[in-house]
Amino acid sequence: MMTTPVTKLTKILDLEAEKYRDQAVVGGLASYVPTWTQEARRAFGPKAGDWIDEIAGRLRTYSALPDTAARREALVTLRDVLNRGPARAEPAPDQAPKPAVKPSEPSPPPRQPPDLESPITVVRGIGPKRSQRLQRLGVHTIRDLLYFLPRRYDDYSQLLPINRLKYGQEVTIIARVKKAYTRDTRGGRSIFKAILTDGTGSVEVTWFNQPYLANQIKQGQQIVVSGEVDEYLGHLCFTSPQWEPLREELLHTNRIVPVYPLTEGLTARSLRRLMKRVVTYWSRLLPDYLPRSVVRAEGLLDLETAILQAHFPSSQELLKRARQRLAFDELFVLQVALLRQRHEWRSEPGQPIPVREDVLQSFVHSLPYELTEAQQRSLEQIVEDLQSERPMTRLLQGDVGSGKTVVAAAAMALTASAGSQAAMMAPTEILAEQHYRTVTSLLDDTLGDDIQVRLLTGSVTGEDRDQIYAGLENGTVGVVVGTHALIQESVTFDRLALAVVDEQHRFGVRQRGALRQKGYNPHLLVMTATPIPRSLQLTVWGHLDVSVIDQMPPGRKPVVTRLILPTERERAYAFVRSQIEKGRQAFIICPLVEESDKLEAKAAVEEYERLQQTIFPHLELGLLHGRMTGEEKESTMARFARGELDILVATSVIEVGIDVPNAGVMLVEGAERFGLAQLHQFRGRVGRGEHASYCLLISDSSSEQAQQRLKAVEETNDGFALARKDLEMRGPGEFLGTQQSGFAQAVLAMELARIADLRLVERAREAARRFFETDPKLADPAHRLLARRVDRILEQGGQIN
Ligand code: ADP
Ligand code: MG
Repeated sequence: MMTTPVTKLTKILDLEAEKYRDQAVVGGLASYVPTWTQEARRAFGPKAGDWIDEIAGRLRTYSALPDTAARREALVTLRDVLNRGPARAEPAPDQAPKPAVKPSEPSPPPRQPPDLESPITVVRGIGPKRSQRLQRLGVHTIRDLLYFLPRRYDDYSQLLPINRLKYGQEVTIIARVKKAYTRDTRGGRSIFKAILTDGTGSVEVTWFNQPYLANQIKQGQQIVVSGEVDEYLGHLCFTSPQWEPLREELLHTNRIVPVYPLTEGLTARSLRRLMKRVVTYWSRLLPDYLPRSVVRAEGLLDLETAILQAHFPSSQELLKRARQRLAFDELFVLQVALLRQRHEWRSEPGQPIPVREDVLQSFVHSLPYELTEAQQRSLEQIVEDLQSERPMTRLLQGDVGSGKTVVAAAAMALTASAGSQAAMMAPTEILAEQHYRTVTSLLDDTLGDDIQVRLLTGSVTGEDRDQIYAGLENGTVGVVVGTHALIQESVTFDRLALAVVDEQHRFGVRQRGALRQKGYNPHLLVMTATPIPRSLQLTVWGHLDVSVIDQMPPGRKPVVTRLILPTERERAYAFVRSQIEKGRQAFIICPLVEESDKLEAKAAVEEYERLQQTIFPHLELGLLHGRMTGEEKESTMARFARGELDILVATSVIEVGIDVPNAGVMLVEGAERFGLAQLHQFRGRVGRGEHASYCLLISDSSSEQAQQRLKAVEETNDGFALARKDLEMRGPGEFLGTQQSGFAQAVLAMELARIADLRLVERAREAARRFFETDPKLADPAHRLLARRVDRILEQGGQIN
């Protein structure tokens, strides 16, 4: 019979019902939740969400139950729910609750709880057309709508009589229409004018190209007008201001007015009206997953108020608190997810490795150079971890070229010589091959002949592959370097005790997890070249121990960095040409296109063609962008590495640690759009050989701030210093973004973190830490929603290490 998530769980429950000791799965039923929900979701789809959540909640509570009696009872219910199955009718759209007539009056939620995950078309007034347009803005469900936050706000809350208006103010007036008329200009444009009076004076208002206003604004009517006070021929006036008829509740005027991101076919006014309706009705139904204790201790707004205020703020103060609350949520959940992961990793004992001092000595002495102090320090920390009962979960952070590989290689040598196995996973074949060569040469003298070092990538096939598989399974392969090929199901290790992941941000949690799963709680060492300022480290890597290599090997030639004006572009090209004539190769990075990778790819293709045809017609150019398949990217990179291409035109996908010693020039277009740390990464692609090398930054922006930021890259080669500068100038969103991108709430967090300061980030972390101590399994039923969000983060992968 096929094993479905239901039969699988049933078996586990059967097993559990033999003893009620919560030992049916390692770590207890609660720890089985992420796996099960993931499988169930895959098997039954989003419709089964509530059912799956209910079971997940019950599994979690089960682990927390005190005695056998309670557990027996809980198991009975659990089985009932499980047997009931996921099939449950969805409410048809027309049965979905209609917005209340008078939303301001508290009315009980409708009997059938509406689903915030329903498509937006259940909202009255959103038909297929509008729905399509909203989807273009990333809004699919009601929940998305609630979190569809204004891009900015216009503060028109200041109400003044006409005789007190001053030029340049952003204000609101309430006045009567004394006269209204339409005129056509010679250019064929229509002008609608109104003279407004409020007893203190009168003022002229002009709207361009809105002829329909003639039907809406009539003489004698009271209207409200908001906008900036303008001046024409010595008289104060308004030009195309916001307006609406005077009524009880104003939406577009006399308040802090939300300005939403727009798309073709959706007007600001209609969107605002729609949002008002949706937010007023549905925000009441948004369950608050933040633990009550936290909301209270932090003095946060409740979720409903926060959503309402973030859309239609009643004051600047409340607006600020609303956005802080929403940012706090995202940061808090991320932190809890990190803590949860760490907790899971550490709850089981690992495999202490008896480190042999003589092997360590012989490894160190066989190196053609001396380890830097920073490398020694990191290695000591790792050695201590390896010997410990607790599985290591360590991040090795070090700038590009700081020498992380050799440190990892030492750890692998120690592991293999102790009779266990070590694996190193890299994100690309080229990188894996590069590491394989390094590691083989480093370990050659240290490891005995009976311990093999092998390379396993997607290109290794047939007999070779079978041999490696066999060697891994019987333990004769002590060290293996590879790509994703390492985590294929068919790969079995005899005794994997150390898993090393290079360029960890290129892998999702699941992939890193999969490598760990190949052994029994192996030690985990992840490596990254992304410098994160110390003040943010705990936030981003709170679940890992961190070793930092903050020192470069001696004798590195710094890359010469120059800021180039757009008008000097030709000279930059000439310089590139001259370097290629000297036998070097060059990278040219295209500007970042934030809207989509599709547009970015298109722009890159155009730039590549332009460069190839008109600028460098006699050179060999290659192209690399995010829309190419992994294979295409690899083969282009390989051609560049072999020297078959003179210039590699690329988008930011180039970032990862590839070593092409012959590359001497890095030219970055639109440099001001990149973070400083990222520019530093680009720069790290050159300066790896014996030649002098150069980084040219071209910026189209002459803004003082942009220039100042780029000057910092020109002036220092220290990645950490640049990261600190980035933090100062752009706020923490930059780092949370690059580290955590990949799940929706992180995007929101990033968005919100831009307004949030570092203090809020730290507060959320502290609060998460305190909260987590009270309920590390998230088993309390009151924390069910939170647990569900945390599971999602851990499942989705995203970029939690
Ligand atoms: P990354 O930290 O960017 O992964 P690598 O491990 O690739 O850096 O090392 C970069 C280069 O520095 C390699 O060629 C390596 O051999 C060399 N290297 C590493 N450590 C030292 C050292 N202590 N002294 C001199 N060269 C070193
Ligand atoms: Mg590296």
